[in-house]
Amino acid sequence: MIVDVHAHLDHRQFDKDRDEAIKRAERILIINNGLNPETNRKTLEISSKYRNVKAALGLYPIDALKIKNLDEELDFIRKNKDKIVAVGEVGLDYYWEKQKKNEEKEIFQKIIDLAEEIRKPVIVHSREAELDAIEMLESSKVKAVLHCFGSFELVKRAIDNGFYLSIPANVVFSGHFQKIVEMTELRNLLTETDSPYLSPYRGKRNEPSFVEKGLEKIAKIKNISKEDAEEEIYSNAKKLFDF
Ligand SMILES: [Zn+2]
Repeated sequence: MIVDVHAHLDHRQFDKDRDEAIKRAERILIINNGLNPETNRKTLEISSKYRNVKAALGLYPIDALKIKNLDEELDFIRKNKDKIVAVGEVGLDYYWEKQKKNEEKEIFQKIIDLAEEIRKPVIVHSREAELDAIEMLESSKVKAVLHCFGSFELVKRAIDNGFYLSIPANVVFSGHFQKIVEMTELRNLLTETDSPYLSPYRGKRNEPSFVEKGLEKIAKIKNISKEDAEEEIYSNAKKLFDF
């Protein structure tokens, strides 16, 4: 089975053909990641409807800064812990918000504590904030997936901590992600799409079935068969998530 550990099927770009897009991904085990109260609720709705869609509930760092009652949303995640396989999408983003680093870190710490408490892995966004994110994760016991990881310098440190790097399907043309794959052992890799973003087809909406393109590319880089790559990456996912 192929895994897409990071998708946003709740996105309005799927409003016209969500059913069909999920049908095209019948062979894919998808983890839909919520970003805020609205998409967290949609995530639960979608995951309850399709057997191959699992839920991760989270707060995107920029959305988390805007939320009125943070504790209430964290409570919502806590209450739904039996319906989710991870806490995500969460993390730090210093690209879109440079002025509120401390506030972002305070919120991320609360989320890490929650993930520890409910014993779920976190799916982490760390744009231009990789070092802070890794340091915070290191000082916790939480298991982590670093999604779309941006820093070559920190790959080894991430792996030494046992974190997983999830590689988007645009690895087919992204030299950056090709290099991350080269630097990382298969046992620390996962596949994702970040649908509807980061498509392997330039200018086209991304969808979970395209994760196969990324898997093929990873297999090619690692010089193994697609089937072997699929099996090992699926077993990585099974170690991490309670499917
Ligand atoms: Zn995302």
